Amino acid sequence: MSQSQLPDTAKRLYRSDGSPRPVGVIGYPVAHSRSPIFQNAAFEYYNLPHRYEKWEVAPENLAAFIEEKRAEDFLGINVTLPHKESVLELLETGTPEVGETGAANTLFLHEDQYLAGHNTDVGGFLEALKAEGCDPNGKRAIVLGAGGAARGVIYALLTAGAFEVAVANRTIEKAEEICQHFQASFPNCHLHALPFDPAGWPNFRYPRTLVVNATSYGLHPGEDEDFPISAADLSGRNPERITYFFDLQYGETPFTRMAAKEGAAHVHDGSSMLVYQGALSFELWTGLPAPREVMQEALKKSWQ
Ligand code: NAP
Repeated sequence: MSQSQLPDTAKRLYRSDGSPRPVGVIGYPVAHSRSPIFQNAAFEYYNLPHRYEKWEVAPENLAAFIEEKRAEDFLGINVTLPHKESVLELLETGTPEVGETGAANTLFLHEDQYLAGHNTDVGGFLEALKAEGCDPNGKRAIVLGAGGAARGVIYALLTAGAFEVAVANRTIEKAEEICQHFQASFPNCHLHALPFDPAGWPNFRYPRTLVVNATSYGLHPGEDEDFPISAADLSGRNPERITYFFDLQYGETPFTRMAAKEGAAHVHDGSSMLVYQGALSFELWTGLPAPREVMQEALKKSWQ
């Protein structure tokens, strides 16, 4: 798409000298990031000359790197581990999602040069639920994990009107802290912390609609192939009928294998959330509708 064909909202794609503004993802390490695959597919879809890059930035270099990119008038930056929380102190403003989750995964430079943080993981997760026909409004959910990703998922479920959110975590104090934090702002939802081991759970009277794995279980050496909690325990007995199982990890995982083995009908990995959070970042930076199907297809092909 030539510059003259762009809608007004997309004029920010180029610097005043006509060159494309830089765009990419920062992390440490960042080599594993799949974001360039679907972001570049989106830029190519619009025939834009931008190339979404991977920038490996060590924690001690974060502030200097952001300053450098600011001087280059960057278009957009995605932020991945371990910078999602530490980047907050460099921001001049942030969305309510950033305030509530304490994390930003997307940076945006306003016209008057102030640096804004967004958290598109929240909207990306909600889009992934919606795409699978899962509406958390008035429903019961359990979230496994109490790290940065879990915080985003819990906030998303609360804004979507979940009736009850249980948070189960190996370090239960972290689950308790999250529940306490969100309970004040969402008094109509029942939040409660649980240990990771279901032997310590009370009996559930009602089945759960939604089970989300936001742990990094399985990614570390020595962790068993089998997920340590059963779908029956997680769902409140009848996983095959009504419960949606969402893993934030990608591909076939110990969690998705476990749910499928127990006959769950709705089992999903984290790849659609990954694309949707990226689609929301793309739209923020470019002002153009993200070609979600093209982006999904590019990611899917990269795994074949
Ligand atoms: P994090 O902050 O490091 O949190 C990791 C969580 O996993 C903690 O709650 C930790 O429990 C728990 N955990 C780790 N090993 C465990 C084990 N062996 N048994 C039980 N619990 C264990 O990581 P994060 O940023 O939240 O990311 C979590 C997962 O989400 C990762 O797999 C990441 O790739 C994925 N993610 C996906 C997307 C997407 O777009 N699909 C976006 C963000 C993240 P403790 O508190 O006890 O340590």
